[in-house]
Amino acid sequence: MAVDFLYPEYEVIRNPQRCIACRVCERQCANEVHSYDEELGVMLSDESKCVCCHRCVALCPTRALKIVKSDHTFKESANWRGDTIAEVYRQAGSGGVLLSSMGNPKDFPVYWDKILINASQVTNPSIDPLREPMETQIYLGKRTADVTRGADGKIAAELPPHLSLKVPVMFGAMSYGSISYNAHESLARAACELGTYYNTGEGGLHQDFYQYGPHTIVQVASGRFGVHKSYLEAGAAIEIKMGQGAKPGIGGHLPGAKITGDVSRTRMIPEGSDAISPAPHHDIYSIEDLRQLVFSLKEATAYQKPVSVKIAAVHNVAAIASGIARSGADIIVIDGFRGGTGAAPTRIRDNVGIPIELALAAVDQRLREEGIRDNVSIVVSGSIRSSADVVKAVALGADAVYIGTAALLALGCHLCRSCQAGRCNWGIATQRPDLVKRLNPDIGYKRLVNLVTAWDHEIKEMMGGMGINSIEALRGNRLMLRGIGLNEKELQILGIKHAGE
Ligand code: SF4
Ligand code: SF4
Ligand code: SF4
Repeated sequence: MAVDFLYPEYEVIRNPQRCIACRVCERQCANEVHSYDEELGVMLSDESKCVCCHRCVALCPTRALKIVKSDHTFKESANWRGDTIAEVYRQAGSGGVLLSSMGNPKDFPVYWDKILINASQVTNPSIDPLREPMETQIYLGKRTADVTRGADGKIAAELPPHLSLKVPVMFGAMSYGSISYNAHESLARAACELGTYYNTGEGGLHQDFYQYGPHTIVQVASGRFGVHKSYLEAGAAIEIKMGQGAKPGIGGHLPGAKITGDVSRTRMIPEGSDAISPAPHHDIYSIEDLRQLVFSLKEATAYQKPVSVKIAAVHNVAAIASGIARSGADIIVIDGFRGGTGAAPTRIRDNVGIPIELALAAVDQRLREEGIRDNVSIVVSGSIRSSADVVKAVALGADAVYIGTAALLALGCHLCRSCQAGRCNWGIATQRPDLVKRLNPDIGYKRLVNLVTAWDHEIKEMMGGMGINSIEALRGNRLMLRGIGLNEKELQILGIKHAGE
């Protein structure tokens, strides 16, 4: 028998005094961890299959279960940590590329946590958001150079196509196929109620969701899955996906096993065939080529819709963004290296790209220096975790943010980082009908609305504290930020002073 060098990462602790052998945990765990031994009349656990998603814990009627991280250890060193050793064993066993999901979990600096927000004291008094109007509505798209008014005082110039958001938070691209129908429905309905947008990702738009088109951003990625004229016309904006923070420089792969039924019809590819998005768009090798696609999409939609271009935050992101701002695109989306994904090679996810905070500051600065900042809006994503992150992003220069992982958490995701397996016990990253129905869109959409509504209240409170009553006045207002524990270079790139200065 081959010896398995790996020890289970988690232990399933079942309290025998509480367990009534109801077998709920067995039915709830798609990873088949729990089983009932008829002869012994007891529940058993195969802990090697547990991904720590907490589904069984949450549904055990007697609270008999808990999942703990195993304290079993390899003989580690600073150089050879347990997870590094385990990964070598895994690859020596499989010969394959390691796959992971969600964002980069490594211990790189989280700059949001090293930036502090200002508040008014004595002078420039703060504003009470409960008593005075606070404006968090924003518009995404080009800004006109000149505003002319007619005799009636109304703006006479034709405004470029734009998106109007009641709150500077949108739901980021997650394709139907990587997430479930019910997850997409929850996002779409929440976007409508909140007055914001959700994004189809690269999997096309399910026929049932055309009704949410005015709050939908449709994506055109390198695989061009599900892209056709009515798809482009259905969305409020079109996003060209050039890159993704979790896996910069590489394409995507949705295994054929997930291409079934409606997913295959929506993507317009045969059932069971792998959906492989090439690393590059095969018609884009320069900014001029990108410009052609931007204008092809505008032409196809009668110049009625803004076009955004999404890139991963990489080393020369500012120069790339400068090119995009000149390509005719209306919005630049920058996705940082902590951005989530349904599946990515672990090495790429954990080692490629740069933090969104530095990328955002560098891009905003460069576009200002070149006098083209108003050519485009900037949207950032890649682990926006709270309203404070949103405020810091706007003060660093973003017009709005996309949230992905936070939205999935609102839907019940427990960050087990196993989306690539397609067995999401919470009905989110799965196409298995028995699992999909565990996510009730009536509840899911409401939780998303609650989350963003709560953030909106907090954003207004922080703005009021700074004496700012309009999100427009906060955008790029780096004086409202101070760094803590950052070196001179980091402060210089972020364009902020150190706390105490
Ligand atoms: S769900 Fe709880 S009570 Fe039921 S079998 Fe599992 S551990 Fe026991
Ligand atoms: S995988 Fe999830 S449901 Fe299954 S035993 Fe582990 S925590 Fe429970
Ligand atoms: S979406 Fe599901 S599989 Fe993915 S991390 Fe969340 S709980 Fe786990």
